[in-house]
Amino acid sequence: MGVVRRRRAADRSTLPVGIAWRNPARGLRWLAALVACLCFGSPAAAAAGRVALALEGPEITQGETVAVTVSGPGIASARLVAGGREIPLYRVSGRLVGLLGTDPLTRPGSVHLVLTAVDEAGRRLTAAARLRVRDGRFGARNVTLSPDTMRLLSPQKVAEERRRFAEAVRRTSARRLWQGPFLHPVAGALSSGYGVRSIYSGRPGGYHLGVDYAADDGTPVRAANRGRVTLADRLPLSGNIVVIDHGMGVFTSYHHMSSLAVREGQEVARGDLLGHVGSTGLSTGPHLHWAMLVGQARVNPLHWTRRPPLP
Ligand SMILES: [Zn+2]
Repeated sequence: MGVVRRRRAADRSTLPVGIAWRNPARGLRWLAALVACLCFGSPAAAAAGRVALALEGPEITQGETVAVTVSGPGIASARLVAGGREIPLYRVSGRLVGLLGTDPLTRPGSVHLVLTAVDEAGRRLTAAARLRVRDGRFGARNVTLSPDTMRLLSPQKVAEERRRFAEAVRRTSARRLWQGPFLHPVAGALSSGYGVRSIYSGRPGGYHLGVDYAADDGTPVRAANRGRVTLADRLPLSGNIVVIDHGMGVFTSYHHMSSLAVREGQEVARGDLLGHVGSTGLSTGPHLHWAMLVGQARVNPLHWTRRPPLP
């Protein structure tokens, strides 16, 4: 039982990561955008003029990421909006590609994607597509927070954590730096899955926006893929943390380490040592919390270990 309680307490460390999504105004905008798009009644995928949108599939489950490819000759500029949120487009092998990430806070249902483009002749072109997001049905669990844990969740510490993390993911390489499937960052069994919602004294709280690996103190933590370190420091809740920019708005983060082996600005290859498993920050037992950001969504990193949206 002791181990279970430890893990639950540690999971709360993901709180700052999810707070931005719980902003009520943002939630309402997202909802409004979805309601608006349901009225369009457009087909599953449609193209107008000489530009088209292609999705890998018509449906995804919360936590998954889908690549959206724009095709058409002579496109000078393009802007993609999904559910009211702009999805940045990047040039990959001569095509424009955007990554649409989802998480437990992405409302299940239909998301309308609208592309507006201008070709080299100055003509304005549009295309639209629809994506269905399925409920991840991640489940919930009851969590009891100790007074020590509550002290770590002071508004000042949460604000500091959020500010530092936001700085680390503000800028991304326009070039894709990753290649192939992502590695599991430690050799260890998963102790806590993605997306589970914590219930505190009957009140619904945050979602587990990452995965936990059970591993001994000192176990090497390795870069899941190639990228550049944008944060390597000690934060109040995440403890010793490393954040890696993999390009195109894709970041991975490694939390609660006992020591760090990289510095900010350093380029890392897939498998490079980042630090060692520990229990720093809001954690009462050694484990690695591993998370992934795509755009503004906290996606499930395990999907990227099996089949990345852009291999
Ligand atoms: Zn965790």
